[in-house]
Amino acid sequence: MPLEVKLIAHTTDPARVVAASARLCYSASSAGALYDGLDGTDIRRFLKKLRDVGHLSPFEHASFTYAVEGVSRVATHQLVRHRLASYSQQSQRYVTMGELRCVAPPEVESSAEASRIFRETAEIAYAAYERMVELGVPREDARFILPHGWETSIVVTMNARELLHFFGLRLCRRAQWEIRAAARRMLALAHEASPELFEYAGPPCLSGPCREFKPCGRPYGSLEEVLEEDR
Ligand SMILES: Cc1cc2nc3c(=O)[nH]c(=O)nc-3n(C[C@H](O)[C@H](O)[C@H](O)COP(=O)(O)OP(=O)(O)OC[C@H]3O[C@@H](n4cnc5c(N)ncnc54)[C@H](O)[C@@H]3O)c2cc1C
Repeated sequence: MPLEVKLIAHTTDPARVVAASARLCYSASSAGALYDGLDGTDIRRFLKKLRDVGHLSPFEHASFTYAVEGVSRVATHQLVRHRLASYSQQSQRYVTMGELRCVAPPEVESSAEASRIFRETAEIAYAAYERMVELGVPREDARFILPHGWETSIVVTMNARELLHFFGLRLCRRAQWEIRAAARRMLALAHEASPELFEYAGPPCLSGPCREFKPCGRPYGSLEEVLEEDR
């Protein structure tokens, strides 16, 4: 299946939660009263202030849960390197790999010969997996032969602070195409749910100098450009 990202849950009115939590730090009022009393302008003003001074811990009160499907284990290995998050991933020990499901990179698919080699090799690996399972090898051991690009599903929960960090790293053009594609969809959904929290999300080149050792030389001009990219 093609890559699919769904925002399955998030904090209600997340920008208000973040702004009210931040205001509490500087106010004698109760958090509940502050939450109820904020209007849209207050919220944006407060979020800007937090970003300007780097007081980002209030962003941790807003949480977002995504279901990511049709993604390779290559990409989920990169995803789970982000430690300030919660994950649940489909198990290759308990779930039978009932058919060949391997994500083919576009660079492979752009060549007929590379595509053929990729498909045939994946088929051989999958046939070996099936045969070993038939022979009584536990699935948890037989899976060692499956390709790294094997398709998987994962649920990930991150708070808004970690998401902003994640988007900064994984939407850079230097990040790999598949995790970038997943991050792009995650940001589009987060931005739809809370434009205030994510209006300045994205790679560092959107707001300042590139931080990469080897800059790509093509800085993004706007968030829209980041979100509209195909790959
Ligand atoms: C383009 C790109 C190329 C990469 N190439 C490689 C590679 O070749 N090899 C490789 O191994 N990895 C590679 N990575 C992964 C990278 O090194 C990080 O492991 C990954 O991006 C997770 O980011 P993070 O560590 O900043 O933060 P997260 O785990 O998302 O944590 C967020 C922040 O919390 C803080 N934090 C979290 N845990 C700790 C801790 N234990 N101690 C102190 N502070 C902590 C840090 O400030 C951290 O930035 C690459 C990543 C990118 C984006």
